[in-house]
Amino acid sequence: MSRRGLLRVHRSRSARAKRAKRAPLTLVHRREHKRALKHAAMRDCGRRCVYCATGLPEHLTTLDHVFPLARGGTSNPGNLVTACARCNRLKGDMLPVEFFARYPWAGINFVRYARAVHRALKRGARRAVSLALAA
Ligand SMILES: [Zn+2]
Repeated sequence: MSRRGLLRVHRSRSARAKRAKRAPLTLVHRREHKRALKHAAMRDCGRRCVYCATGLPEHLTTLDHVFPLARGGTSNPGNLVTACARCNRLKGDMLPVEFFARYPWAGINFVRYARAVHRALKRGARRAVSLALAA
């Protein structure tokens, strides 16, 4: 093996060791991060489902990615809202525009209650609702 190859092996092994040492902390951190995101979303969404407007205690609250992860959405706070399990299931992997076109009531509530989402998402929701109601 060349000297270069050896160096690379050595470096990657130490990187793996570092990652392994950090893993437990990262897990705890990730769980706390998720909890913090949920609490922030609950506060911003007025402790209700932003789609059907039902009031939600924490244990019945689910986090919904407005622009679904499966369609390229992120877990940024501007893409997260609180929803009941039923609406979350109903929405599935639909894009917000598809969901609001099919269920304008969800769009109307979303515009009213999803106060902290990215403004492009709100704009799209408003447009989808008015198109759905005009049809
Ligand atoms: Zn709901």
